[in-house]
Amino acid sequence: MIHRVGSRGKRYITTVIIGAGHAGLAMSRCLAERSIDHVLLERGEIANSWKTERWDSLRLLTPNWQSRLPGYRYRGDDPDGFRTMPETIEFIERYARVISAPVRTHTEVISVRRSDDSYEVATDQTIWHCDTVVLASGACNIPQVPALSTAVPAQIATLTSAQYRNPAQLDDGGVLVVGASATGAQIADEIHRAGRPVILAVGEHVRVPRIYRGIDIQRWMDVAGVLDERYDQVDDVVRVRNGPSLQLAGYPDRRMIDLNSLAQIGVKLVGRLVGIDNGKAQFSGSLRNMCALADLKMNRLLGTIDEWASANGLDSEIRPPHQFGPTEVEPSPPLGIDLMRGEIKTIIWATGYRPDYSWLEVPVLDHKGRIRHDGGIVQCPGMYLIGMPFLRRRKSSLIDGACDDARDLSTRLASYLSQRSRALQHARQPRQGIASPLG
Ligand SMILES: Cc1cc2nc3c(=O)[nH]c(=O)nc-3n(C[C@H](O)[C@H](O)[C@H](O)COP(=O)(O)OP(=O)(O)OC[C@H]3O[C@@H](n4cnc5c(N)ncnc54)[C@H](O)[C@@H]3O)c2cc1C
Repeated sequence: MIHRVGSRGKRYITTVIIGAGHAGLAMSRCLAERSIDHVLLERGEIANSWKTERWDSLRLLTPNWQSRLPGYRYRGDDPDGFRTMPETIEFIERYARVISAPVRTHTEVISVRRSDDSYEVATDQTIWHCDTVVLASGACNIPQVPALSTAVPAQIATLTSAQYRNPAQLDDGGVLVVGASATGAQIADEIHRAGRPVILAVGEHVRVPRIYRGIDIQRWMDVAGVLDERYDQVDDVVRVRNGPSLQLAGYPDRRMIDLNSLAQIGVKLVGRLVGIDNGKAQFSGSLRNMCALADLKMNRLLGTIDEWASANGLDSEIRPPHQFGPTEVEPSPPLGIDLMRGEIKTIIWATGYRPDYSWLEVPVLDHKGRIRHDGGIVQCPGMYLIGMPFLRRRKSSLIDGACDDARDLSTRLASYLSQRSRALQHARQPRQGIASPLG
């Protein structure tokens, strides 16, 4: 690693990347291509989030071919398979080795401050001074738990999706899973199949089939350009960035994991959890509307795919368009359950995640604690962000999205450094035409 040690033991480097997940590593590879000296600071180990924050049975919901990183892609004989967690970790660790990423593991960043026109990055071990900073610390550091969780009766165990590992970890008895996106739907499915009664509280969600017209939905979205849609092409990027993940799973049998399939195995569907009063959980009456909206959005996506297939002359080569039946909702889903009755022993919050910027002492956060940025270019010179939902493209939150984003952002970072260096040179040149007072 290239770095200069300052007179007081401080380290100087052009760029600090915070976080050694796939996004930080992709950025490292792109900076190395441009000979920009940098270091990756990682509080845990490479691929730390996959090692410490995921449940045991999780497989990627993106097929193997869809983890293309700068200078690295899947070369095995199962491109359509779905990686297990150990395989995902091995994939990311191998990438770090292949690109010789300059990672310092077990080095936690405890503050980032602006210092003149550069940055001071303090870790639990030393202080780095740098011209540019890349925030690659992840979008899913903290599970979001609704405020109403404080009203859960004491006899009910609660855990977040980041704490959930497997059904054996739970007390015997019923489970209420709150949230029906990819995480909630998969956890509800697993716990129910393990023989526990499961109630799934359903809010806004995005229904998609795993396979459409014989082809994986991710392949469709990739070839039809859906995943390449840019952040500056959508009407309300803030809303889209906060939207739920696709209700999708990477099961080896490629089965669909929508609410119909969950209801068929016996998972009980209720509306969004909106309150807990005197030990009684209250569910919204909007379940039917939520499902109708999800069906509508799914059909719109499938319509886009059909149009693309026709326009590209594929209709005669693949299966014909297919209509999925609407999500079936029972006529009067319960609007409440008494949590004191003992039916529910555990509540699992699968209600999303948020990043942790408690160490960021640069005024770039909005009133909701989100970083103000334009496609990853943070509103503070020389600071960049990568790995966030819809950062620059619809695929930005996926492993596959880091490739294009890292290329774009490293180009912007390099041009910032050249401009900065020209400005510094200019400032150092003696001004012509101004007489020195010393003669
Ligand atoms: C349950 C779940 C399933 C997912 N499934 C898929 C999938 O199937 N396919 C897909 O493409 N994507 C998937 N994703 C999305 C995405 O790929 C992951 O969230 C991924 O981990 C994000 O990569 P990243 O590099 O941006 O962040 P992370 O992998 O979270 O890496 C950030 C790193 O920064 C480190 N860090 C954080 N703070 C500090 C600090 N202060 N100092 C030093 N280091 C720090 C962390 O330890 C971590 O190693 C999934 C996400 C989740 C939560």
